[in-house]
Amino acid sequence: LLRRERAAFADRNPRSAAEYARAGHLFGRVPMTWMNKNAAGFPLYLATARGATLTDVDGHEYVDLCLGDTAAMAGHAPAPVAAAVQARFADGACAMLPTPDAAWVGEELTRRFGVSEWSFALSATDANRWAIRLLRAVTGRPKILFNSYCYHGSVDESLIVTGGDGPRSRDGNVGAPCDVTLTSRVAEFNDLEGLARELAHGDVAAVVMEPALTNIGIVLPEPGYLDGVRELTRRHGTYLVNDETHTFSAGPGGATRRWGLRPDVVTIGKAIGGGIPAAAYGISREIAERAAGMRDLDLVDMGGVGGTLAGNALSVAAARATLEHVLTDEAFARMEALAVRFADGVQRVIDAHALPWSVSRLGARVEYRFANPAPRTGTESAANADPDLEDYLHVYLANRGILLTPFHNMALMSPDTTAQQVDLHETVFEAAVSELQRA
Ligand code: PLP
Repeated sequence: LLRRERAAFADRNPRSAAEYARAGHLFGRVPMTWMNKNAAGFPLYLATARGATLTDVDGHEYVDLCLGDTAAMAGHAPAPVAAAVQARFADGACAMLPTPDAAWVGEELTRRFGVSEWSFALSATDANRWAIRLLRAVTGRPKILFNSYCYHGSVDESLIVTGGDGPRSRDGNVGAPCDVTLTSRVAEFNDLEGLARELAHGDVAAVVMEPALTNIGIVLPEPGYLDGVRELTRRHGTYLVNDETHTFSAGPGGATRRWGLRPDVVTIGKAIGGGIPAAAYGISREIAERAAGMRDLDLVDMGGVGGTLAGNALSVAAARATLEHVLTDEAFARMEALAVRFADGVQRVIDAHALPWSVSRLGARVEYRFANPAPRTGTESAANADPDLEDYLHVYLANRGILLTPFHNMALMSPDTTAQQVDLHETVFEAAVSELQRA
């Protein structure tokens, strides 16, 4: 079936195939240049994307449930962001000077996420990297702790997993500057005993985590786990960083606000720019005071934690328009209602076909899983992967006008996603499953 669907994809997309044939030798050998190379073997080339609908260069329309792996959670080209970006660019963007939008965005991020002092970045990778450097500096401790199979961008320290013989570098961690076990510790998500063991060494500056794993499927926290993490980090003098880049789908203040969490640091990228590169990290007043006491917080002195384009006026204008007019409380309520509809539809198909699968949801984002119950740690989740089955579903859906998030069976709702689009997914998903069971 997968072979058949790949052949159909190639027949259906001659222009994308031709573009890839032309550019593949220029870009195709570095696999992460465009992360969505596609399960079909070559990417669709983008013509236009508006709202939750994407059109490729062959003229096919798609229900875009990938939405740039959450970067377009606000929908593609939302009108208030487009207007703000055009106006700002016309008046200049890269002056290395703040605009009044910055204070608005900082106040809004504080209102949503609790932590009080912010710095801008252009990507979540950089926000994480800079936050980590700052926390090493203020604590004087060498190590950072991550959850096994986490993803926080191409941050050297984070590409670590638990293994049978102890922690090891994650597959694909190419070109690392040193053995990752020198810089990092690792514990399984949902394992407080493992975390306590690692923190007891007293050398961990910070725990960097997603409040729910979203990069090895969605793995939700068990009751008491996040409170336990907070309690243990406090006891060991270790800071707690919530990377809300993806868990922002949980609501206007991400998982932090939804679940009443009290991290010391919040990092966030992707969606806050409404489609324009923007990211930020926020720290508690206590960390800011320690940093200021340690050395003058002069940009030149702090060369390890910033960048020329970080906080450029265009990104900041985009973030303001996104937070003020698009990813509002009301929008999240609508997005979540659609996600519930999506999850219910998938569950109906699972039940009707007696599949040993399950559905996980984090606010506006849904995933279907080839396991029931859903895995509770990153390692369990990785062991549960079925790449051929996943590829079949992705290509089958793409051939019928639906795009899921690559590497996962994930779907995100935007303010522009419609109930009809959600229902279309259910119909096509049901057909994919029926064909699978007949085969
Ligand atoms: N943090 C999390 C939780 C992510 O999922 C990702 C990317 O998927 C990143 C950080 C890195 O984002 P970017 O690639 O935009 O730097």
